[in-house]
Amino acid sequence: MIKLERKPKPQILIDNQQAWTSNLLDAVSKYGSYSKIPKNEKEKLLVHYRHEQIKSVLFYSSLDKCAFCETKPSESGNIEVEHFNPKSRYPDSAFDWDNFLPACRKCNGSKDDHDSRNEPIVNPYDLDPEDVFSYKDIRITAKENEYKQMGDMTISVCSLNSVRLMKPRADILVSLHSFSAALEEAIEDYFEADTGVKRRNRKRKLGEALEAIDLLANPSEKFSGFCKSYLRGCAPYQQAKDIVEGAE
Ligand SMILES: [Zn+2]
Repeated sequence: MIKLERKPKPQILIDNQQAWTSNLLDAVSKYGSYSKIPKNEKEKLLVHYRHEQIKSVLFYSSLDKCAFCETKPSESGNIEVEHFNPKSRYPDSAFDWDNFLPACRKCNGSKDDHDSRNEPIVNPYDLDPEDVFSYKDIRITAKENEYKQMGDMTISVCSLNSVRLMKPRADILVSLHSFSAALEEAIEDYFEADTGVKRRNRKRKLGEALEAIDLLANPSEKFSGFCKSYLRGCAPYQQAKDIVEGAE
């Protein structure tokens, strides 16, 4: 999970949010509850939140990844507009821009109608997940701080340690370990260079190797939060950065 920036509310929502919400709330009072609204009628009332203008802005803000698990549609099915506070419990927020998140089908299904208002989970638009989560090997864990309970709840509600997520993390970890070993060798070579020319060439190679690794932690890549966290604790990576940036 990584921090996301909320984009401005799309025009279609500015123009229609009030009418869409009051139509839905009228139906809730007409039938006595949200769950009692007949299926077809409910679908007609709700369809607007999946409007193309809403989806495009929302999905752009998460770089087309799931806001919770950071997978792309190729891994976990379509990204959907998910309600942070579920519309079944809070129909008055069914068309709130701030209540929308782009989520994959798996996270959306796992979260279901969890009551995020009473049992808070992390909303990556409002809170930096780096303050909440760290990784132990291929498992995401909640840090021991003020967000611990919220972090644990998020991991459990969105099933962030399910096999479908741990497997690709394991694959990435293998790549990261081998990148790290290659960096270590390149650093040794750099320090063994006996001429200025060799040293400059080896520094350039280190820079190229770093660029390749940094690509994995690019926010548009799947599991970029996991990669970033690994690199933060990776000594050869930090040392190579120091060399390339001229500190060594
Ligand atoms: Zn997901």
